[in-house]
Amino acid sequence: MSSESIKDELISLAEAAHQHVLYLQELGVDNFEAPPAVEITGAKTKPVSPERALPERAIIETAEPTTAAREKTATSGDSLFGEIFKPSLDKLPESLPDSKETFEEIWADVGNCTRCSLCQGRTNVVHTEGNRKARLMFIGEAPGADEDAQARPFVGRAGQLLTKIIEAIGMKREEVLIGNINRCRPPGNRAPLPDEVAMCKPFLLREIASARPEVIVVMGNTAMKNLLDTREGITRLRGIFQDYKGIKVMPTFHPAYLLRDPS
Ligand code: URA
Repeated sequence: MSSESIKDELISLAEAAHQHVLYLQELGVDNFEAPPAVEITGAKTKPVSPERALPERAIIETAEPTTAAREKTATSGDSLFGEIFKPSLDKLPESLPDSKETFEEIWADVGNCTRCSLCQGRTNVVHTEGNRKARLMFIGEAPGADEDAQARPFVGRAGQLLTKIIEAIGMKREEVLIGNINRCRPPGNRAPLPDEVAMCKPFLLREIASARPEVIVVMGNTAMKNLLDTREGITRLRGIFQDYKGIKVMPTFHPAYLLRDPS
């Protein structure tokens, strides 16, 4: 093999790896370590200085929570869902505001929203749907193309998997609440930006206060970080109950990620 073709092959491998990292990040997996960056010069490689390397990434976490993370929880025993739960002590507990608002009133406030630039690319605002008396709520990141077209959350491939997951725990989709942090589809399905989240999340929080579900399942890194205002990653917190103003929050992978990696 000539040095030119070795170089081409290395470049295309590096590009493929980079695309895969971007893809994983989009799905909410960001706690992994990129190998030391290298710069390709001819057929040789040399290390890239730290300033020029890709943004720093944390060491890969095992899917199992660490002992320390587990120690942040303890049994309470009497939960309806029979789960282990104790909110972290490093944040003062806040309680959910009393709310008599209906979803319709909240949606009327959303209106034909132009509060952020996501309105420019959307077809429909996608509101939370399902049973407003539900004890269980699922929250994702933002609508995709199918959701934008149908004005309903989680109706595309990931949504079909979510529906099966709900059925697998013996419930029907109509029995739970399903919503997103953002109500308009971001271009190219990118993660919503902080200012876009800041504009939209209050409507979801008002719906949560109105419906007062007992447990929220938050799906994927972006949704989890935005709901819980945490910098922890999904691989660390997944499977460990968190707290949102007295509501138990279970972080888990996004169904789109499960479609790519069923294991
Ligand atoms: N992904 C999400 O996060 N939300 C949807 O509604 C659909 C796909």
